Amino acid sequence: MRYWIETFGCQMNVLDSEVMAGLLAKMGYEKAKSPDEADIILINTCTVRQKPDEKVFAYLGEFAKLKQKKPQLILGVTGCMAQRESEIIKTKAPYVDLLLGPRSIHRLPDLLRVVQEQRRFSEYLDLYDDPVPPDLVVRNSEIFAYVTVIHGCNKKCTFCAVPTARGPEKSVPPKIVLEQVKQLIDLGYKEIILLGQNVNAYGHDLKDGEGLTGDGRIDLAWLLERIDEIAAPSRVRVRFTTNHPNHMTDRLIKAIANLESVCEHIHLPVQSGDNEILRRMWRGYTVERYLSIVEKLRAKVQGIAIATDVIVGFPGETEEQFRNTLRLMEQVEFDQAFMFAFSPRPNTLAATLPDQIPETVKKRRLQELIALQNEIQQRRNRQDVGKYVEVLVEGPSEKNPKKLSGRTRTNKTVVFEGSKELRGKLVHVHTNKAYLWGFEGKLVDEVNSKDETQMELLAII
Ligand code: SF4
Repeated sequence: MRYWIETFGCQMNVLDSEVMAGLLAKMGYEKAKSPDEADIILINTCTVRQKPDEKVFAYLGEFAKLKQKKPQLILGVTGCMAQRESEIIKTKAPYVDLLLGPRSIHRLPDLLRVVQEQRRFSEYLDLYDDPVPPDLVVRNSEIFAYVTVIHGCNKKCTFCAVPTARGPEKSVPPKIVLEQVKQLIDLGYKEIILLGQNVNAYGHDLKDGEGLTGDGRIDLAWLLERIDEIAAPSRVRVRFTTNHPNHMTDRLIKAIANLESVCEHIHLPVQSGDNEILRRMWRGYTVERYLSIVEKLRAKVQGIAIATDVIVGFPGETEEQFRNTLRLMEQVEFDQAFMFAFSPRPNTLAATLPDQIPETVKKRRLQELIALQNEIQQRRNRQDVGKYVEVLVEGPSEKNPKKLSGRTRTNKTVVFEGSKELRGKLVHVHTNKAYLWGFEGKLVDEVNSKDETQMELLAII
């Protein structure tokens, strides 16, 4: 029996797919080489924008043809769209056999059994379900691994469908997180990425007895300290995403600055550079507050790279308000930005607001924003040409498979010549050319012990 999983959306969905692959592996399924040879196909969906929604139905149409040829094929839709748009899916794609919400993926084996044994449609869509930590995850990478530390989101940003797809926040007890991280390090993983829709809200809902306690208070800074104790000696890198500006505490900034394993890189969505738009988005902070966090991060964490998310064309956004966003981009000079035109999602407040912006205007604003950010990104990367950077080698470059590709601690791609044996290793590279996506460079050496490396680099510089 073979499975095929098609994944849309964010890193949380990637991890959810890896967990579902683990559940299927435990049931005796193997990964198919293509959808044609699968006995079960799952589409793990995203509902953040309209385009992926449309794509899901296009995929479903294709898989329906396979099902006609092979009626025993089980076709399932999982993830955020299954949770939020179950009725639409049932109407538009009545041949779907199962629907499973992102909060309940651990229920996949039960659901599958119902479909297989009773040959009937089955669904599990509980927003308040208590996710069960996975004991087997079939991971796509042998180098970096995702670990969920907090599920769901308690915020109510008016444009966002996530809270109604993933439910309220629920932190994973630190004991479980630490066990998972230790296991991954023992397995040889070199980078751990802690995930949560609001990862820096971690711990607010934990009570004594739900795991280890630390200084009477559990927050992300505390968790990072504990993780650093096991990650740093093995030179394992740690990242965490996504952060909400309102939970960027001084303790967390200090942890990023001081902990050896924690990378100098943060994803901190700003969404708009205009206070009135931020207010209508219910983001809960002002431009001034956001800028003060950026200032603190740059003052305390040397060389930190800051990435963000921005939406243009939110309902009612005037030309002047859009210009305020451009001004903010120039002021902050983000290292990376994920930029989108506002996409009205069903059952969100923003979708019902008056003064929706015409598509042509949204498109033009988005193009202008992207052009500006590209200029900024190139400029910032050019400043780092001629420097020595630590790179975690991921394997052959997609751009040029004869070369290797990896990422810096600041999450920038570096392409260079080297032996494929370096895959999964930390190396030093001297950057000699900047691009929008990162750098090309020359391999200097492999990172061995910290002291030895520092001495070598001092000699080289
Ligand atoms: S913080 Fe806002 S944008 Fe982020 S997931 Fe929650 S509701 Fe959505």
